[in-house]
Amino acid sequence: MGMKIFPYVNLFGRESMAETRVLSIRGDEVLPDDEYVLLEAYCVDPRCDCKTGWITVLARRREVCVVVLHFRLFPEDNQMRIEFTGPVKAHAERVLEMVSEMLREDKHYFALVKSHYKNTKQEAKRRTKKGEAMPSLKPEDLVLHGVDGRAHRDFIRLN
Ligand SMILES: [Zn+2]
Repeated sequence: MGMKIFPYVNLFGRESMAETRVLSIRGDEVLPDDEYVLLEAYCVDPRCDCKTGWITVLARRREVCVVVLHFRLFPEDNQMRIEFTGPVKAHAERVLEMVSEMLREDKHYFALVKSHYKNTKQEAKRRTKKGEAMPSLKPEDLVLHGVDGRAHRDFIRLN
């Protein structure tokens, strides 16, 4: 049985986009100038407490997915461990460096991710209780299609 996940903004809609991080990169030695959108996705199994999630990094101007990162939360240690998932494309290592740096320096981001994980689980539990379907994707879908491609493009346009 594979893991079921779903992008946070697709689950909670437009308002949740305000809580999605964007890194504005200008004049970096490695990364092209762009707005890098960190689109989160979480495990949507209501009975699972894996504390894992994914960050799909989109370059908004170029409309490409740079990398998909996988992470695990360790709230008791106030830590988050991140790794690559799928093929590592050009610029992926630099993006991972930047996200790690942001996590070290910006405690609000860690808190935000923790709360988004919690919100996703609550929503999954609520829908299960009411007998409603919970939308889901496989982690591979993020890597291969970037949240089916369409969602990514919608996200880029809406912002
Ligand atoms: Zn899980």
